[in-house]
Amino acid sequence: MTTIHQTFYQAAAKTLSKKLLNRNFQVVICENLTEAKEKALALIDPKKVVAFGGSETLKDSQLIEALYERQQPMINRELAKDLAERHQLMKQALTADYFLTSINGISEDGELVNVDNVGNRVAAITYGPDKVLAFVGMNKVYGNLETTIQMVRKKTAPLNATRLNLQKTPCIKKGVCGDCFLEECICNTIAVTRRSWQAERLTIFLILDNHGY
Ligand code: SF4
Repeated sequence: MTTIHQTFYQAAAKTLSKKLLNRNFQVVICENLTEAKEKALALIDPKKVVAFGGSETLKDSQLIEALYERQQPMINRELAKDLAERHQLMKQALTADYFLTSINGISEDGELVNVDNVGNRVAAITYGPDKVLAFVGMNKVYGNLETTIQMVRKKTAPLNATRLNLQKTPCIKKGVCGDCFLEECICNTIAVTRRSWQAERLTIFLILDNHGY
């Protein structure tokens, strides 16, 4: 990433953090993913249970590996033998002490926008785990709420559909979201979190770099 990006992101993150704090979200500004990982590790009580949702940014940070290394109690749906067990683990994740995730898009005013398939990630962000820690690259800050929803629907979701190797959806066949209702559609819930009902429940790690899509 260029110095121009970093300088811009620093100023933008400072402005955005005030908006996020005003909405009862906590903010940790990090230069990079390594710093975000170290700060998250310091925040998480090593004895408490951690669950996590699908996130490329989280994966890239290697936080999950670091938690396993220190013997953190974990709920990991990726270890399920079959779909039934996977759903059980996703339900259990809603009772975890910590939930790790990313956010698909943040408006300049600090609203959080997520598009979800099953809905487990949006559910955990909304209610259940005592603490939610979200890693977000500053490239996910898009403008007003309408623009942010559009970007999440028109850019993030189709790229996720491509990553997940969907076959039949308009975003795969034509490269454009067709607002589909197909069986394999991954855009079943579009959620806006405008404020945290509890202060200090949801911490946004704003990373001064480009991560995820
Ligand atoms: S609504 Fe359908 S076409 Fe649009 S991004 Fe989601 S899966 Fe693709």
